Amino acid sequence: MGKPLPPANEEARLAALRSFDILDSAPEQGFDDLVVIAAGICAVPMASVSLIDRDRQWFKARLGLDDAETIRDTSFCAHAILTPQAITVVNDATQDARFSDNPLVMDEPGIRFYAGAPLVSQEGFALGTLCVIDKQPRQLEHFQLQALEALSRQVTHLLEMRRVSRALSLQLREREWYEQQLQHYQHELEQQNADLAEQTRTDPLTGLPNRRAFSVALATAIDKAMASGDGFAVAVLDVDHFKTVNDVHGHDEGDRVLAALSDLLKAQFAGRGMAARYGGEEFVILMPGTSLEEARLLCEYVRESVGLLSMGLPISVSIGLTGFRRGDAPDDLFKRADAALYEAKRNGRDRVSCG
Ligand code: GH3
Ligand code: MG
Ligand code: MG
Repeated sequence: MGKPLPPANEEARLAALRSFDILDSAPEQGFDDLVVIAAGICAVPMASVSLIDRDRQWFKARLGLDDAETIRDTSFCAHAILTPQAITVVNDATQDARFSDNPLVMDEPGIRFYAGAPLVSQEGFALGTLCVIDKQPRQLEHFQLQALEALSRQVTHLLEMRRVSRALSLQLREREWYEQQLQHYQHELEQQNADLAEQTRTDPLTGLPNRRAFSVALATAIDKAMASGDGFAVAVLDVDHFKTVNDVHGHDEGDRVLAALSDLLKAQFAGRGMAARYGGEEFVILMPGTSLEEARLLCEYVRESVGLLSMGLPISVSIGLTGFRRGDAPDDLFKRADAALYEAKRNGRDRVSCG
């Protein structure tokens, strides 16, 4: 038996075949259809799109053939790719020295007739064939040979288009992946920015807004009050004798007091104003849409609540309070509230003073 020799460009040919990424792929209608048409035109029971791999021929499409692949040594098509420009026709395999003792001729399926049109890629590599097979010796008419050649070009087109469309969808998937990554990083960056912005507005010990955040809120409150005519109140709250708390109970205990006081302020003013840590043991409170009298009652309530904090040590606060007056700058409000606080301290602490 004449074993088919590999073509001179075998390694490059195999690399080209690999680039189609088609070996062992699932059946596809386009290839199946062309095989059916080829068999129909040539009036034979068997046909295939056969691709010649290093040691086997693998059928992308097959009609009347049981196995999905056979070894290369017995392959007719492996002979056919040795002449890429011409159809290989074997009218009677028993009379052909290359095939007469081929097991596919001597045993099942008992091949007698074979015609294989090489599938030549754009780069000029014969990847395999579109072939028709019969168990009877036969001859093809000229028009049948032409049709087989034409169909083999269609198979090659299909292979090329499949390769391009797979490359495109791969690029598309890659692009989608990069876009996803980009979105992911952008989201992370936005989150980091938001965290950073939050950090610049928040006092780390108490979790309350800090002086900067309060200034922004106060400026907004002034703008709103000027536009709407609704008043608001500002209070400055200072822990009484806090130095002594630190001195007697330690700095950590002092911190604990500040945290508990902050929780109380958060709960009291959440959703209706803002309490912020102004610095040290001093807090500021913004009470929008609140009259001075209402604000005084709120501050009294806070002062009493502080007295009830079960900290294990007596804690009190003094509060200086003032209401917005048209034309007030932020500083004016702070100065009046501070003066009122000073008065509260002077009058014995643990009290609310209005200024
Ligand atoms: P007054 O009733 O007049 O306000 O007396 P005071 O002792 O509270 O006032 P003073 O300004 O003399 O002391 C404030 C103290 O607050 C001094 C400082 O060590 C303490 N302090 C400021 N910030 C913190 C802090 O973050 N943690 C703790 N534990 N102490 C702080
Ligand atoms: Mg104090
Ligand atoms: Mg103070």
